[in-house]
Amino acid sequence: MYDLPDLNKFVEVRPGLFRCTIIWRVMPGVEVPVATFLVRGDSLENGSDPAHDWLLIDSGAPAQVDTLLNAIDGLLTHEKDTLRYICITHAHVDHTGAAPALLEKYPGSRVVIHQEEKPFICDGVSHRTCPSDTWTFTLFKHFSHESYVKVPHDRTVTLRDDDKWEFEHVLKFVATTGHTPGSASYIHIPSRSIMVGDALMNIATNPMWSKVPCISGPMALSTCNWGDAMNSISKVLTLKDEVDTVFPAHDYSVDGIHIDKVHEFHKPSL
Ligand SMILES: [Zn+2]
Repeated sequence: MYDLPDLNKFVEVRPGLFRCTIIWRVMPGVEVPVATFLVRGDSLENGSDPAHDWLLIDSGAPAQVDTLLNAIDGLLTHEKDTLRYICITHAHVDHTGAAPALLEKYPGSRVVIHQEEKPFICDGVSHRTCPSDTWTFTLFKHFSHESYVKVPHDRTVTLRDDDKWEFEHVLKFVATTGHTPGSASYIHIPSRSIMVGDALMNIATNPMWSKVPCISGPMALSTCNWGDAMNSISKVLTLKDEVDTVFPAHDYSVDGIHIDKVHEFHKPSL
């Protein structure tokens, strides 16, 4: 049923940008694809097979840790290859699972996270404590999966809304709050792609019955501020000069979404 070429392994979707999709069993009968991305930084040395710095965007669900670590090992094959940053789009359980294991495996690495998201990944605070502007979140937050990941404060790079964090002209931070208080996206500058986490999704309307991708906003049940989430989609659309492709974390397509399609889906009220 799942014929994605990047299933359980990293595949180069754009030059220097690699995606690995792992299927997450949310509950019996409900399976959702979760994508993580590896970004290749500049070469660390000359020669035909140089080592690189690498950055990871999101780190999968806890049940996916071994699969993700194996997939990373399959790509970071040079003995001097190293993971520098784990860039988290938001601290939900399906995006943070392997972060502690990766921090241990790569002692020089750090987690990049929005300041408003940090309590959920460093201090054990639950997203259920978030104030909400919707009845859906207020009602359904009690049934959501809790993340038990704990990351040490001194292993984080903490960013605020307007901070301009950029790695070697390769990856750039953009705050896209709403799904969670500190949701963020990351632009892969060379390929004009943006990884938006759950700010947008491209899975079936009903994942229990279908695998036909369909653009939607974030999942309402787990989105604490719907107004901010819609403004963040508008914000992504304002990046049209820098971005051609939008890659959601939950995506049944291989090639992401062209930003024009996002525009058709969401007419911004700017
Ligand atoms: Zn998610």
